[in-house]
Amino acid sequence: MKIILLGCPGAGKGTQAEGLVKKYGLTHLSTGDLFRAEIAKGSPLGQKVQDYMKRGTLVPDEVVVEVVAAKLDDISGGWLLDGFPRTLPQAQALDGYLKSNQVKIDAVLYLAMEEDTVVSRLSGRRSCAKCKAVYNVATKPPKTEGKCDGCGGDLMQREDDKEATIRKRMMVFNDLTQPLVTFYKTECPFHEVDGSGSPGEVGEKLFAILDKVQETQKA
Ligand code: AMP
Repeated sequence: MKIILLGCPGAGKGTQAEGLVKKYGLTHLSTGDLFRAEIAKGSPLGQKVQDYMKRGTLVPDEVVVEVVAAKLDDISGGWLLDGFPRTLPQAQALDGYLKSNQVKIDAVLYLAMEEDTVVSRLSGRRSCAKCKAVYNVATKPPKTEGKCDGCGGDLMQREDDKEATIRKRMMVFNDLTQPLVTFYKTECPFHEVDGSGSPGEVGEKLFAILDKVQETQKA
């Protein structure tokens, strides 16, 4: 299956993507994770994108599109896009790429969220510097403050999860990414799910949608 996971920052795309790629055997392509890994390596791409990310603004379309197209070329089976596309030009570039490769999107999954819920969720988010496990000081605290339950690594707050940057990222989302909802409603099989429930509840709803997609494909 070829899946696009849409949602504002903090809607739970990363958490849900983990469950979905495992259950359906997909390759997870998260542009945010990819850029963070490049920054950690200090690569030329990392250096190019780090200032945009720190400020909570978007990396230029042409940079993102080139990186994603190269990654998609390397994937042989199904995939799930998380955090891409994020602007109309990115969606149009993806559309062109898919058409020229005769590939169709099986489902666009949109995790809908209210802005205030997002801000409290993101400002409490912490992730393990070593194994990347994600916690939340309000809703999923670690057993020992500041330490990962699994590997004991230090828990860090992402630079772009500070409140002012979160508000900025939400503005960027509303201006540039929200229009994709209208685009995909007419272009692809589109499913909206309330992202404010627990990860388990949201996951069950997404599984039900993709199980149906798979059944239809088998029929
Ligand atoms: P994320 O982890 O998806 O919230 O992405 C973190 C940051 O990476 C964003 O705030 C952007 O600066 C950058 N980024 C990730 N994906 C994209 C994209 N598709 N287009 C432009 N910038 C992106």
